[in-house]
Amino acid sequence: MSQVEVKAYGAKASDADLEQLDIKRREVLPNDVKIDILYCGVCHSDIHQVRNDWGNSKYPVVPGHEIIGRVIETGNEVSKFKEGDLVGVGCMVDSCQECESCKEGLEQYCENGMVGTYNGKDEHLGGHTFGGYSETVVVREKFVLKVPENIDAKGAAPLLCAGITTWSPLRHWKVKKGDKVGVIGLGGLGHMGVKFAAALGAKVVMITTSPGKSEDAKKLGADEVLISKDKEQMKKHAASFDFLLNTVPVKHDLNPYINLLKRDTTMVLVGAIEPLEEMHGGLLITKRRNVAGSVIGGIPETQEMLDFCGEHNIVSDIEMIDMQNINEAFERVTKSDVKYRFVIDMKSLKN
Ligand SMILES: [Zn+2]
Ligand SMILES: [Zn+2]
Repeated sequence: MSQVEVKAYGAKASDADLEQLDIKRREVLPNDVKIDILYCGVCHSDIHQVRNDWGNSKYPVVPGHEIIGRVIETGNEVSKFKEGDLVGVGCMVDSCQECESCKEGLEQYCENGMVGTYNGKDEHLGGHTFGGYSETVVVREKFVLKVPENIDAKGAAPLLCAGITTWSPLRHWKVKKGDKVGVIGLGGLGHMGVKFAAALGAKVVMITTSPGKSEDAKKLGADEVLISKDKEQMKKHAASFDFLLNTVPVKHDLNPYINLLKRDTTMVLVGAIEPLEEMHGGLLITKRRNVAGSVIGGIPETQEMLDFCGEHNIVSDIEMIDMQNINEAFERVTKSDVKYRFVIDMKSLKN
């Protein structure tokens, strides 16, 4: 298959900095869309993959799965897109399309394994896929999203991962107007969770360990801030929540949060992909409470979220960086020193 070489940024080993390198992109196939990448968000997973924290990284790792760009070429069977369209690509670029999950539009749970935007299996060129820290990308039409032209394209980048990761559980568990929703943890995910829950009409409580984040949480749309280290406050809110979105990215004690749930309600984990501390069965049993997990969202749901963002003018709060400053940005993400997402201006790579 014919290929073209494009500039990218990637890491050649788990302990190496990211540096400029050349990668191959396939020529456009009948169902493909070729995208000139304008912006790419920096997700915490990018760092995990570069550092091989999950043990499955293939090098070089070219991260990036919060891609915003313009269509520059379409295959002859593409019907949804044309040159010039503003589009997005998230965490997946393909899936089997045949299993039950795929048929339901839940490609993220593809029983044969979805193809990750980076570090996935490249069926076309062999080897593994390369993400959005690059000039262009070629993606199967089915996995390309339409981005509303009225929202800020830079701020839209993080919607493709941080956005859909929080939107999907809010929709799946049917959060509605008037519900009391707690968002645990105020980072890239949490700040989107607050915005979406507020836009859906919920009464939003930001649950955080740091009192310093109160003002920011309220600016994002939280009605109230609950400091989880304050036992008195936690007691006051016991058994009062209709839904909890837990975005904490590391192992932590779930029990104090479970105790906040009303009977028959759910706390959904979207952050901690690692072993958890022990849960007390009594807390679940006595109020028929649920603890669940959720990963990104399917393609139809991602489009629904982007359309909703267009209607409600919602984007992420971001800090722009040049591609050349990515290593410093990784350091700062690791220290949670960003409000709330870095987005790379891909012009900096093209110069
Ligand atoms: Zn991500
Ligand atoms: Zn499938």
